[in-house]
Order: sequence, then structure tokens, then C-alpha cells
Amino acid sequence: MKGEFDTKDHLIKATAEDVRVFAAVTTDLVRDGVKRHDCYPVAAAALGRTMTGALLFAANLKNKEAVTIKINGGGALGSIVADAVPEGFVRGYVTNPHVDLPAKSPTESNPHGKIDVAGGVGRNGLVTVNRFTGLKEPITGSAEIVSGEIAEDLTNYLATSEQTPSSVGLGVLVGKDLDIISAGGFLIQPLPNASDSSITKLENNLKTIDPVSTMIENGLDAEGIIRELLKGFDQINILSTTDLAFRCHCSKRRIEDTLMTLTEKDLNNLVEDGKAEVVCQFCGKKYQFSKEELVALRNVGLGKVHL
Ligand SMILES: [Zn+2]
Repeated sequence: MKGEFDTKDHLIKATAEDVRVFAAVTTDLVRDGVKRHDCYPVAAAALGRTMTGALLFAANLKNKEAVTIKINGGGALGSIVADAVPEGFVRGYVTNPHVDLPAKSPTESNPHGKIDVAGGVGRNGLVTVNRFTGLKEPITGSAEIVSGEIAEDLTNYLATSEQTPSSVGLGVLVGKDLDIISAGGFLIQPLPNASDSSITKLENNLKTIDPVSTMIENGLDAEGIIRELLKGFDQINILSTTDLAFRCHCSKRRIEDTLMTLTEKDLNNLVEDGKAEVVCQFCGKKYQFSKEELVALRNVGLGKVHL
């Protein structure tokens, strides 16, 4: 069922009393990523949740900073990786997008049947987060995967690696024809001075709200999700709204840089083949290289020519 109004993907930051909340609708960008990588449902849900989580994490950053989330629980999906920037762009991929696992049985709150994300992610590995803040090296943190459902893993990461008590909710609803019906998420952080009564109100709200993908399917936008999460709070201040999209920053130049790191033998093999096609891992874009271009790259790579 479509909501009564369709919204473009967006992220809203808000505060109320002593609580900070970010919420995002990511249906279109998840659909875009899923299509680019030809994801089956388990991979679609895992990639959508991770990309949404990365956008929520990025919302805390300053302009020009970036965050990468990598989930690897040792399951059949391999790694799930997403990069996001606070300007609202995200890109991501799953190592094995064609993993196929049966859905768990439908329930009243989840009539489509629950996709077995934890089964694909696995529970034996790490969430790794890199924050690129303009310093030479990224700030890196990691935490054990606790459930493989991704939202709980990110909540646990924030609590254990960054000592920030939070609650992360993520959801992707995948239709029978592999279309993305709804996707989105939220991140709630009580501020350090938060009162016990605020924490209790939040905990009660978290227990009673619908899953985030259901709220979006029912037509709620990010502000609507925030109002559900903050039911009972006096004043909700909407701080900002950011449009969101899947966008990769790959270019032929960046691919050339990668090719030049190959060994002399590998570069010679490419030259002998007479042409090469390189596919961007993040967005699926294909880059073609002619024999002349490969020869030039080999010469630069071997230090014979300085550009
Ligand atoms: Zn790309």
C-alpha cells in the first residue's frame, strides 16, 4: 500500500528537551542501490539498512567529512559496506548480492514475512566504522556483531566503541517483485544530562511504535517518525532537513590510480589483452580502457613517464 503522500528521500535532525533524534526516509536511494547491484531480498535489506545507518551516522559530521560503515559477520553475504557524507549522499555494496535465504513466516506486524538478514550477515565478526575528518588517518572504531540485524549492531557499536548510549532503528521492506516498498531509519541519543523521565518515555515509545519500514509504508515522513518516537515530549525542535540520494564519486581518474597500483606483470597482461573493463565496486559503473591507455598507464606506473 502506498502512503497518502509520497515523499522524496530526506533526513531530519531534531531535538526535544534533553534528547537528540535523526530520522530518514531512504526508499528511493535503497531502490537505486539494490537495482545497481542486482540484490536479492536478503542483500537488499542488509545493504539498505547499512546505507541508511551510514547516512544517520554522517548526520553528526561537519561538511566535507565522511563515514564508512563495514559490517562483516562471517555470513554468506560477505561484507556490507556503505560510505555517506553529511551533505546527504551515500553509496554502498554487498560482496555477495545473490545470497538467497527463505523468509521467516509472516506475522501480524510484518505481513510480508521477515527477511532473514541476520542469517545472511552472520554473527561472528565486526562492525567497523571509519570517520574521515580531514586528518591524515581516519578515526576507526569497531565492535563485535551482536545480532546480525545491523540496527542492534550499530546501537551496540555506539555504546561500546564510542560510549554514546543510543538507539538505532533501521528497516527495509522488500516487495515480492524485488521492489523496495519502503526504507528508512532513526538514531536517538539522550543528551548527557537527560533525565530519568525522558529515558523512560523514550523506552516506552520504542516498545510501542511500529517498525520504521511500516511507518514509512503508512505514509509517515521523517518528521512523522520523530513525532512517534518523541510522543509525550513537550517541544520538538526541527533543526534541519537534508535531501538524500545514492551517489558515487568514482571517476576514470580514480580507477586509473587503482590500476597503477597493479604489479608490472598484471599491467603487462592487461596490455596483452588489448583492452580492459573495470567496474566500480560501489555503483556498478563500467569504465573502458583501450590498449593505448593501458600502455600509458603501465609506463606511468613503472615510473617511465611523469605526468
Ligand atoms: Zn562508482
